[in-house]
Amino acid sequence: MSKLLISILLSILLASCQNPPSNNFDDYINTVTGPISIDSLGLTLIHEHMLVDFIGADSINSDRWNRDSVVRKVLPYLLEVKKHGVKTILDCTPSFLAKDPLLLKELSEKSGIQILTNTGYYGAVGGKYLPEHAYSESAEELSLRWTDEFENGIEGTGIKPGFIKISVNEADTLSEIDQKLVKAAGLTHQKTGLTIASHTGTWKTAVQEVRILQEMGIDPSAFVWVHAQAEQDFDNYQKAAEMGVWISLDGIGWAIDPYVDRLLFAKENRFLNRVLISHDAGWYDPAKPSGGDFQPFTNIFEKLIPILNEKGFSQADWNQLLIDNPKRAF
Ligand SMILES: [Zn+2]
Repeated sequence: MSKLLISILLSILLASCQNPPSNNFDDYINTVTGPISIDSLGLTLIHEHMLVDFIGADSINSDRWNRDSVVRKVLPYLLEVKKHGVKTILDCTPSFLAKDPLLLKELSEKSGIQILTNTGYYGAVGGKYLPEHAYSESAEELSLRWTDEFENGIEGTGIKPGFIKISVNEADTLSEIDQKLVKAAGLTHQKTGLTIASHTGTWKTAVQEVRILQEMGIDPSAFVWVHAQAEQDFDNYQKAAEMGVWISLDGIGWAIDPYVDRLLFAKENRFLNRVLISHDAGWYDPAKPSGGDFQPFTNIFEKLIPILNEKGFSQADWNQLLIDNPKRAF
C-alpha cells in the first residue's frame, strides 16, 4: 500500500516537473506586454491592423515609419474602441509587412488594450512578402524560426507571439511554397500550441490547408479560416463548422451586408459557436502622407450589432462571438 502510494506520488511529482506552468498552452496566452490568463482576454477583436507596409519583403525596413507618428495616429482609435468594451486586439500584420512588436507594446501600454502579435509568413500576392529563405529552407527549418520567436521573443525584443499567422494564394491545388507554409505552421503549432490563422479566402483553398494539418494529426479546431467572407456557397460554412474549423468573418470595417447574411445563416444553422468576427481595419500605411486614411474598429458596435439585434440576435450571441469564441479559438 505505502509503496503504491509513494510510486503514485513520485509519478505526480515527475509529471509536474515535466510540465512547468509556462508550457501550459491552455491557460496562458502571450500578449505584447507578457503572458496573461486566457480568461482575461475578455471582449476580443481577432483580426485588426495597426500598421501595414506593402512595399514587399525585398525593401521593407523599419526606417520607413516613425513610431511616434504611428502612435499619434492610431492611439485615438484604440481609445475609441475601448469605450465599446474591447479588452483585447489580435494584430494580424505578419513579418515582412511591418510587424513591429515594440510599436504594439507602446500602443498597448498607452491605450490599456491587450494586444497580441503573431509569428509566421505571408505567402499570398505571389510571395511578394516572403523572404528568400522561405523558398530555400524546409518546413521544419521555418518552424524552428517561428518556434524560436515563441520561446525567445521576436528579434531580440523579448516580445512573444500569441498566435501563428500565415497566408496562401487561392488555388485549385496549393502551390509548393504555400503547402510548405501550412506544414511549417502545423509543426510550430505542435511545438507551441499556438493557433494557426491563415489568410485564405474561399473554402476550396481552406479545405486543402485543413487536410494538410489533419495528415499531420492536427485537429481542424487549431485552424482559423481567415477572410472566410469570400465564400459564396453558404453550405461550405456548415461543412467547415462540422469539421471544427474556425470561420473568420473579418472584413466588417469595410462592409456590413455580407456579414448580416452570413451571421444570420450561422445562427439559423446553429454554428455561431464556430464563428469569429472582426473588422480587418486600421492601418497606418507608411507609403501614404501621414499614414493615409485610418479605418476605425467600430462598425461591429455601431452598425452590425443594431442591425442583427433587430433580426433576433441576443446579448448571449454577441458574448459567444466576441468573448467565448476568441477564448476557445486562441
Ligand atoms: Zn488583415
